[in-house]
Amino acid sequence: MRLFEFPGGVHPDDHKELTRSKPLEALSAPELLNVSMAQHLGAPAQPLVKPGERVLVGQKIGEPRGFISAAVHSPVSGKVKRLTQVPHPELGRCQAVLIENDGEDERGYQPPERPWSELEPKRLVELLAEAGVVGLGGATFPSHVKLSPPENKPIDTVILNGVECEPYLTSDHRLMLERPDDVVLGLKIVRSILGAKQALIAVESNKSDAAAKLSAKLIHGDSGIEIVVPRVRYPQGAEKQLIYACTKRRVPNGGLPMDVGCVVHNVGTAVAIRDALVDGRPLISRALTITGMGVDTPKNLLAAIGTPLSALVDACGGLKSGTVKVISGGPMMGIALGTLDQPMIKSTGGLLCLTASETFKPEQGPCIRCGRCIRACPMRLQPTLIAARTKLDDFDECLRIGARDCMECGCCAYSCPAGIPLVQYIKLAKSEIAQLQRRRKEEAR
Ligand code: SF4
Ligand code: SF4
Repeated sequence: MRLFEFPGGVHPDDHKELTRSKPLEALSAPELLNVSMAQHLGAPAQPLVKPGERVLVGQKIGEPRGFISAAVHSPVSGKVKRLTQVPHPELGRCQAVLIENDGEDERGYQPPERPWSELEPKRLVELLAEAGVVGLGGATFPSHVKLSPPENKPIDTVILNGVECEPYLTSDHRLMLERPDDVVLGLKIVRSILGAKQALIAVESNKSDAAAKLSAKLIHGDSGIEIVVPRVRYPQGAEKQLIYACTKRRVPNGGLPMDVGCVVHNVGTAVAIRDALVDGRPLISRALTITGMGVDTPKNLLAAIGTPLSALVDACGGLKSGTVKVISGGPMMGIALGTLDQPMIKSTGGLLCLTASETFKPEQGPCIRCGRCIRACPMRLQPTLIAARTKLDDFDECLRIGARDCMECGCCAYSCPAGIPLVQYIKLAKSEIAQLQRRRKEEAR
């Protein structure tokens, strides 16, 4: 095994000891599920069902609206109670279908017409679109789109991302330990669809048991698949950093992995791809970690999409008194939640329940020009400068110095001894730049 790394980044305490040795626990679907129509990058899906209608497990209940969108399916059999609006961690609110689970688990999906190895790549991609498979590493980019690169962008390398560099989260680690055959099969399917010569599985060096387990699955005739072991460093799992660490290819600013012949999929997505193309099972559940000192019994769960977040926390013994914050995702890139009265969606990779001591931040002071944020930035930006120009409302300068290339990884703010909320300033700059560009486009018409 080779060891790989990228420039910049930070090394926060990973806190993975809370759950890394806890097997995935399958949670029964609740009596009522709110299945959101906005669970992916791109346009929300259009509901296909009406109140009173009976639905089956895996039945399509939301039609994608456009190429960058994804189908949505019922995780249970039961009755549609109504179409409703639910809170959404990023959009505020979105449309959802409220389903009453009848507990009969009546299946409404079939395996594909032939084994995956006998189907054309085009058909496999169609089946993935039908199954609503999206990237489960956080971005929820529709997988059928990622697997349809234009002809002038041939892919020679597929990288399976088993890095899971966000502190606290361990469900990908558990998937690699508990479903290694399915992870490897998912990778083989992706490689076959893209016709890529090289396939790599990247597993950070703090998960050597998972790397060994996957390695043991490759001994018989899997030529062209290699396990690579990046050093533990955040954000090793970000696409551009992972591609550089594994291949030394640099994705250009504003570019995509396909510009350097690469496609990256998360290990959870590989399992979802395998499930869709072998069993015909749409994406209706996922693995996630409920963790932090604020939850009674941290666990890794396998839960149905649409399960209320409060039910996930209850399955882990509930919140402890003194919990001050719950984050969807990890501490570096996650989103603080205003309420647990909202459903789990395809992007819910974890819930982090934090006590006051875990959320301590130094009081904000003036920039002391120490340069730590610049050294930590894996995108080679100057966060302190972008923040300063944002305070002056100088968004043309923010654009010029690359604010749009920020991937909001949080390394700069994590490193800042003055407690300056650099990511918030940069997010503001990105949103103002987008508005500025829209306005100028309209004025030019
Ligand atoms: S500027 Fe953006 S990419 Fe660079 S460290 Fe800060 S959040 Fe990460
Ligand atoms: S890390 Fe903080 S204090 Fe240091 S240069 Fe950056 S913004 Fe200024």
